Amino acid sequence: MIYVSTRGDAERRHFCEILLEGLAPDGGLYLPERYPQVDAGTLEQWRALPYADLAFEIVSLYIDDIPAPDLRVLCRKTYTAEVFGTRAIVPLRKLDDASTSPARTDVYLEALSNGPTLAFKDMAMQLLGNLFEYELARRDEQLNILGATSGDTGSAAEYAMRGKQGVRVFMTSPHGRMSPFQQAQMFSLQDPNIHNLAIEGVFDDCQDIVKAVSNDLDFKRKYKIGTVNSINWARLMAQVVYYFAGYFQATASPHPRPLPGGEGAKPQKVSFAVPSGNFGNICAGHVARMMGLPIDSLVLATNENDVLEEFFRTGVYRVRSSADTHETSSPSMDISKASNFERFVFDLLGRDAGKVRQLFGEQLARTGRFDLSADPAFRQARERYGFVSGKSTHADRVATIRDTYERFGLMIDTHTADGLKVARGHLSPGVPMIVLETALPIKFAATIVEALGREPERPARFVGIERLPKRVTVLPADVQAVKGFIAGHCG
Ligand SMILES: *Cc1c(COP(=O)(O)O)cnc(C)c1O
Repeated sequence: MIYVSTRGDAERRHFCEILLEGLAPDGGLYLPERYPQVDAGTLEQWRALPYADLAFEIVSLYIDDIPAPDLRVLCRKTYTAEVFGTRAIVPLRKLDDASTSPARTDVYLEALSNGPTLAFKDMAMQLLGNLFEYELARRDEQLNILGATSGDTGSAAEYAMRGKQGVRVFMTSPHGRMSPFQQAQMFSLQDPNIHNLAIEGVFDDCQDIVKAVSNDLDFKRKYKIGTVNSINWARLMAQVVYYFAGYFQATASPHPRPLPGGEGAKPQKVSFAVPSGNFGNICAGHVARMMGLPIDSLVLATNENDVLEEFFRTGVYRVRSSADTHETSSPSMDISKASNFERFVFDLLGRDAGKVRQLFGEQLARTGRFDLSADPAFRQARERYGFVSGKSTHADRVATIRDTYERFGLMIDTHTADGLKVARGHLSPGVPMIVLETALPIKFAATIVEALGREPERPARFVGIERLPKRVTVLPADVQAVKGFIAGHCG
């Protein structure tokens, strides 16, 4: 498989060449040259596979520079019941039942948050950690990952890279601004290759420092600085797998199975609802749909930060200023622009890289917005690609958390609540709706207490985590201080 840039000016590359990179050199994002097609017969063969083997079948379609037996070992090492809590890895739980719900639709929750950090980012990051270790060993190279986090991404990266040969992590976070649980999760790691840097500033200061260090090309080369942000293709690719796994579970029974390749066989369709921020999670759903997975709608849910909801409703994409970016109770969706969105626009515009370059490289940089409302391509977002959108507020989250607990005895987190709320506005009779659970409630306890008047349940392995010794260095919001720390801890 060959990868191309959404802006068309970068060299065509193989998977391992883009694995350790971020943006393409022309400022675009990498995508496979085409989407491999999965026919009905292959789908039915995959239905019975354990998750790790399903992952192998899917990712091997995208990777031609790792020998298949090695790739299978990496997948089996990643997706284990020990790491993800169940043999199913991403079990489905039914909420609304078609026979009793007014919408005559089954609504399911797909559990993606039982990995080491209790958020869906583990699903991809755990595979990324094993791929990095494999590729660095093969090249006999080292990599120093520098990142900025306000919570979920940083901890998922640290838990994926801990103890890995050839990799060090330097993760900046705003000092004293993460939840006590999130701080404990990250700072209790004692692995010598993991470095927590608490920056005396806000999240934007951390991001600015990371950018400044990455823009110093001499420093970057000398200290082999890399990133693991959400634009990495390998993360997106790993996320495609759980769309297939969710589909198989929701259509296992009592729906009749389609006849593989048979005359007139119409596979059962399902829809997915996805709590969205940077468009990484739902972009993987788009890829799964392009591969032929029978997805009816992709329901994009935002919180009050509604950049994407607005686009899919109106055709206008408008980057928000920081004054216009709200701090909400679903903080992992608090974005001002969506860093993976360019990938979808590339497909929407018929892969016209010149047009993408003009929109993202020029118009957005100049005016902060573009408008596709008059472009026939915009109508295709819904008709051809299945995208619809909706928005949820703090009051909606609280009401949804309360309703879910009362009716099903289940505590859901604030982001998942946004997804469930928006999903129920887009149900079609007979089309199962799968809501992706993106975190467990323990990570966002304050809103659970507000909604339910009690503390969220805590998985046994996290009891008392706040009392563990912490490994963290507090640094001023200063590029030189961070560079000095990195230089002093490499080699
Ligand atoms: C990262 C994250 C999201 C947003 O996912 P994107 O891929 O950025 O759209 C939603 N919920 C939680 C809990 C997250 O950590």
